[in-house]
Amino acid sequence: MHTEEIIDLENRHGSGLYPQQPLVLVRGEGARVWDSEGREYIDCSAAHGVANLGHAHPAVVQAVKDQVERLIISPNSFYNDQRARLLAELARIAPAGLQRAFLCNSGAEAVEAALKFARLSTGRPKIVSAMRGFHGRTFGALSVTWRKEYRRPFEPLVPGVEFIPYNRADRVDQALDDETAAVILEVVQGEGGVIPGDGEYLRAVQELCCQRGVLFIVDEVQTGFGRTGKMFALEHHDLRPDLLCVAKAMAGGLPMGAVIMGPRVGELPKKVHGSTFGGNPLVCAAALATIRTIEEERLAERAAAVGERFLAGLRAIRSPEVREVRGLGLMLGMQLKSNSARYLAALADRGVLALGAGATVIRFLPPLVISEEDVETVIGHVNEVLPRDT
Ligand SMILES: *Cc1c(COP(=O)(O)O)cnc(C)c1O
Repeated sequence: MHTEEIIDLENRHGSGLYPQQPLVLVRGEGARVWDSEGREYIDCSAAHGVANLGHAHPAVVQAVKDQVERLIISPNSFYNDQRARLLAELARIAPAGLQRAFLCNSGAEAVEAALKFARLSTGRPKIVSAMRGFHGRTFGALSVTWRKEYRRPFEPLVPGVEFIPYNRADRVDQALDDETAAVILEVVQGEGGVIPGDGEYLRAVQELCCQRGVLFIVDEVQTGFGRTGKMFALEHHDLRPDLLCVAKAMAGGLPMGAVIMGPRVGELPKKVHGSTFGGNPLVCAAALATIRTIEEERLAERAAAVGERFLAGLRAIRSPEVREVRGLGLMLGMQLKSNSARYLAALADRGVLALGAGATVIRFLPPLVISEEDVETVIGHVNEVLPRDT
């Protein structure tokens, strides 16, 4: 198929929901992807923070090949070797005490489950979330997501949600009452513009939750699996949530999510929640390979080191367009004074794929295997597409 034909088919028969760049991506390897015309790109999007291991990592490819021939699907009404091993691995890498997990297929599903489990476990209805927080697009997840453009067309949403300012410890106390089931927060707000959480704030929220019988949900769908320089971003601040939501990079590119739970989440009655595809052997095998590779290749440490260099390089750029550069590990945001769309297009023209985060932030979420040379190249291109100081 020709490039134009592919674009035309998607335009005519797709949902029309996604703003799309006129590029057809057909292949990937490591931190590089190729389009249908054979052009090569440095991928600083990693498919929205999914491809932490890089594209086509041999460990994931092999694990999927092996498992696909053995058993693709097996329901949760039977036990399975891959699922058992993955559950044990999640319990090992999660903070101490988080020993059980519910397996699902996406970030929104993980958040949806965490909200349900919090209500179930506390018998309380209300949820507190943060301004600029993003937790997904299904009704429950959308109800705790901040952006009104996403929320308004679908109201009425799930009732009982209150939003508080992020990183303001003084505003948490008054938001919690006897009706509050949970507080849900990201450790670094991703879609909201790459806003790192303050450790003191996050620990204060956790402490208050503990005192008031409220469950603390941490959404690490974007920050998990090495992205910020630790296996989980909560390790930067020594957090121990009651419910930990993960997804995106978890299964090396295959769709998967999970809620990992601590002891304050009570016993869940049989059949109150579930998922047909959740925890299928194929994605469990991919997730096992992903976790093993992150540890063997020390990708979290790599994200910390390369991220520091990347952040410093972006901060050294002198342009009147740049307001602030911030981030943690290889989750970086460049806050501009105006819309980022034209700069994203200019970067793509130069062979660099990056993401937006809100209207005015350029977000870099490269695979954690990105080379230092590629990082230097990206910094050079960013420098060239932004207007100069006069
Ligand atoms: C991407 C994201 C989600 C939603 O994940 P999907 O797999 O797209 O449903 C939820 N929370 C955070 C923090 C995310 O970045």
